[in-house]
Amino acid sequence: MTRYDAVIIGAGLGGLTAGAILARAGRKVLVIERSNSVGGAASSYKVGDLFVEGSLHETSNPNDPRDPKHDILTRAGVRDAVTWIPSGTFYEVRGGLLDAPLKVPDNFGAARDALTQRFPDARDDIARILGEMEQIAAATDIAQDLNLTLSQRLDSVFGTNEAVKAALAANLSYYHDDPATLSWVLFARAQGQYLQSGGCYVQGGSQRLSSALARAIRSAGGEVILRRAASRIDADAQGRITHLTHTAKDGSDPQTVETARIIGNAAPDTLAAMLPKAGGAALTAAYADLPRSISLFALTLGLSKPPRDCGVTSYSTQLLPDWTTRFDDYAKGTTLMASEPGARMPPLAIVDYAAIESGVPAPPYVLSAIGPDALSNWNDTDQDAYRAKRARWQDAIVAYLDTHYPGLAQSVVAASFNTAFSMRAYLGAPLGAAYGFAPTPGRALNLKHDNTCATPIPGLYLASAYAGFGGYTGVIEAAGACADMILRGG
Ligand SMILES: Cc1cc2nc3c(=O)[nH]c(=O)nc-3n(C[C@H](O)[C@H](O)[C@H](O)COP(=O)(O)OP(=O)(O)OC[C@H]3O[C@@H](n4cnc5c(N)ncnc54)[C@H](O)[C@@H]3O)c2cc1C
Repeated sequence: MTRYDAVIIGAGLGGLTAGAILARAGRKVLVIERSNSVGGAASSYKVGDLFVEGSLHETSNPNDPRDPKHDILTRAGVRDAVTWIPSGTFYEVRGGLLDAPLKVPDNFGAARDALTQRFPDARDDIARILGEMEQIAAATDIAQDLNLTLSQRLDSVFGTNEAVKAALAANLSYYHDDPATLSWVLFARAQGQYLQSGGCYVQGGSQRLSSALARAIRSAGGEVILRRAASRIDADAQGRITHLTHTAKDGSDPQTVETARIIGNAAPDTLAAMLPKAGGAALTAAYADLPRSISLFALTLGLSKPPRDCGVTSYSTQLLPDWTTRFDDYAKGTTLMASEPGARMPPLAIVDYAAIESGVPAPPYVLSAIGPDALSNWNDTDQDAYRAKRARWQDAIVAYLDTHYPGLAQSVVAASFNTAFSMRAYLGAPLGAAYGFAPTPGRALNLKHDNTCATPIPGLYLASAYAGFGGYTGVIEAAGACADMILRGG
């Protein structure tokens, strides 16, 4: 039986990053992925002629040494293996509480100027809140109150000036859906990292990054196997991990390997089901109180002409719904898809991949629209009913986009629509969670990742959105911390 220093369940960004660092440090690693390709959410693929980006709109630029991904991706051997293309403007905000579109640049100085120009009466408050974000993004020790929510912080600074709040946090779906339950410190840190280092996209698609990580593992002597599902974890009488069994996707052809360390890139609930009964119960209990993050829907449209010809003016546009009267109303968008499309549309984050040197093939020109979603919005027992409702929502979103960008509907030649339901099926993520556990104030304590990668099971670690915070930066940070913990012999 082959023995490995570490076996990694899942070849998402977290599993691949931890695997690459460990393999390059001389550890014998095996990465097991149940899908046909590596990457998990960090995948891009084709549906017919249409290029579909599975997740990435923007991440903070890892070429900036201050970015938390800089050192970790360097150690994983991939920071220079892909090209990080600046996204230009951080985002443009349209609709909702804003009376005219506003472009928010991706650096602190220019963002402050743009916001101040639009909201001159809030000049000092904008400078104060951006200053606080800049300090939190750069800090190793956070002095701020970790219990504060985004709503509380913005209310205390801006009072009832709802438009400036919406402008500052228009891209809320990059993290969460509800300002009243989102940790201020976690928001400020992530948003501040974009404003500190600039936003960027992996040229050619997120698959390039995932594939580069898999190559780094293999070149260092590690193994990455596809279409194999981890199915059982064995432990000794003391509960210490001893073996892992993986099978073909249909459950046939079981193979067992020996290892004392398993890194879970799959969700903790998935790992719990593989463990012996007592271990599974302990793992489940450890995370029972943590709410899962939102899911996302992602509608990818293929257009016959560049989106700019329909009036799209930025790489990333946050289209806020007109029915909101307060910034906190954003949270009401998540459950809209539980019903038939009506007068209300969810908030949409729109990306025009032809607006930058993205390397995304065209035509058709790719415009993707994502928004907050929940598994409970979709009936997963009747596939026909699910597909029919999803098609009606697709038509409604395209018609809505056409009101903002006249001519867009007519130019749609291809489409692919992933929902919370697809996320659960594709990633095996319970509830279709896109960001691991929800970034609520209680989780701000985990900022240093001191112990978020360890689990109550000796030898079982997490390297995923569940070990840190969702999004590329949070997952890569967590994976780096997990690899370091193992290298230290923890
Ligand atoms: C639509 C969408 C848009 C997003 N946009 C952005 C963005 O613009 N910027 C950003 O920073 N983040 C974004 N994110 C979030 C980001 O993509 C994720 O948080 C991150 O990629 C999660 O990585 P992970 O490694 O934790 O898990 P995953 O990507 O979920 O990987 C887990 C892997 O484990 C595998 N697996 C599960 N069970 C088993 C098993 N039993 N055996 C073997 N393998 C198994 C799965 O197949 C999967 O490959 C977006 C996410 C979505 C869904």
